Amino acid sequence: MTNREYFIFHQTNASIAPRFGLPSQSQTTGKWFIPISKRVDDTDGSFAGVIVATIDIDHLVKYIETFGVNEDNAFALMREDGGILLRLPLDPKAMGSNIADTELYRNHIMKVMRGNYEYISRFDGQDRIGGFYRSRETGVTAIATRTKQSILFLWLNQSKYPWLSIIFAYLIGMGLAIRWVRQIELREIGEQKVVAREAEFRMIASLSLDVIEKISIEGVREYVSPAAEKLFDQRAETLLGTNILDTHNPEDRAAWRDALNRIKEGSTSESVLTKRQRADGSTIWLESVLSCTHDESSDAPDAIVVITRDVTRQQKLKLELDALATTDGLTGLYNKRHFNAQLDACMAKAKKLATPLSLLMIDLDRFKLYNDTYGHRAGDNALRDVAAAIQVQLSNMNGLAARYGGEELVVLLPNCGEGEARKMAEAIRNAVVALGIGHAHNLPWGQITISLGFATALPSQPMTESELIDCADRALYIAKTNGRNQSVSGHDAFGPKRLTASA
Ligand code: GH3
Ligand code: MG
Ligand code: MG
Repeated sequence: MTNREYFIFHQTNASIAPRFGLPSQSQTTGKWFIPISKRVDDTDGSFAGVIVATIDIDHLVKYIETFGVNEDNAFALMREDGGILLRLPLDPKAMGSNIADTELYRNHIMKVMRGNYEYISRFDGQDRIGGFYRSRETGVTAIATRTKQSILFLWLNQSKYPWLSIIFAYLIGMGLAIRWVRQIELREIGEQKVVAREAEFRMIASLSLDVIEKISIEGVREYVSPAAEKLFDQRAETLLGTNILDTHNPEDRAAWRDALNRIKEGSTSESVLTKRQRADGSTIWLESVLSCTHDESSDAPDAIVVITRDVTRQQKLKLELDALATTDGLTGLYNKRHFNAQLDACMAKAKKLATPLSLLMIDLDRFKLYNDTYGHRAGDNALRDVAAAIQVQLSNMNGLAARYGGEELVVLLPNCGEGEARKMAEAIRNAVVALGIGHAHNLPWGQITISLGFATALPSQPMTESELIDCADRALYIAKTNGRNQSVSGHDAFGPKRLTASA
């Protein structure tokens, strides 16, 4: 016992104040304890001995641990000379060690009674922040520290939700700001594009030879391109606000109204062909194509774009082609195909309106002989002259003449009874005689003559188209056999029941 550190201390030190010894470990139990010793003097003041008490470190640890010491926290009790009495978490290396040589000891603990500091622990090498308090009575300093990391972690943990909210709000804010800026940019780009596109459209529209118009669904003009002046003889500005129906001829108005109605009912495109009288008296044909535009949100028709172009040339060509398709090249009369179509149409109309329809079948007399005598070319000319004479006779009447085949011609007389047909047949026959085309072998006349057979379909005695042709043809045959240069009525030839008779 006598060689113990505290015994030597008190033996050589006159102070009778209690003194904390460095922690020791019991050799028998292995338990740690801290000795507290005090010098005992004799009556003459000489050293009489030492009183020693011990503090069970286990007990002390349990007490201190109630303050919540864990691995991140550290707690230490230090003697005035820098000797470590206890360190938690328990560290045998630290027990009894001395930190008097550290900066912490020299510059902080020994200078003030209490304070805060930051240091690197020599026991666990951790960067720590701590506070200390030194007891005036015992000289023992209590040191409590926490690793910087855990403080930061704690701080982060505590402020995690506010921070997340701030970051979230910041991100939303940033997102909205970026979106807002982008929208402004897009709007500006969009506006620039609209302006550029409008300029482009106006440029194209102004250069276009076609008239481009934008009209409301009701037909009111909202835009008219400059070509209107050339095509409509009217400046574009004067047309704005007018209704497209009002600027067309009454006969074309119905077609326009129909086209507008069809667009209103859902048609996306319509076309209208109109004939217009120019200021200089000429006639032009205009083709207008109407295209519907739709409201973006409701998809309902909201406007119509009308593009009108001059199709006079095409229309004239078309009419010429139509004429060529229906006309006989030699005589200029209609051809057989057109005649048949007209016969069907006229027959249907006659039946519907209960009107008579007459047909004249005409054949040149002894024409083969004419060709043989005067040549085929002369024959052609004669045929052409006869056709022209027939046309002249028909000019004051609603009739249609066609070349039925070879030198056989046919005349269709709608709304014409038998009496009138007879008159027309005779008029034509006399007109051919009046031509006076010499035909030496057509005796006794010595000139070109024709024979005619005619028939009339009456509402009271309806006939089919082929029955009408057949009847006239049979009458013509009789005219031939009776001596030529005459007209014969199918009625006269076959009596009232002529169809039965001819069958
Ligand atoms: P008929 O009085 O009995 O009618 O005597 P035809 O000589 O006229 O007899 P037919 O009707 O049989 O003869 C028709 C002739 O018409 C035959 C042909 O030489 C002539 N012919 C038919 N088509 C043309 C034509 O396009 N040009 C010319 N030059 N002659 C034609
Ligand atoms: Mg013939
Ligand atoms: Mg003949």
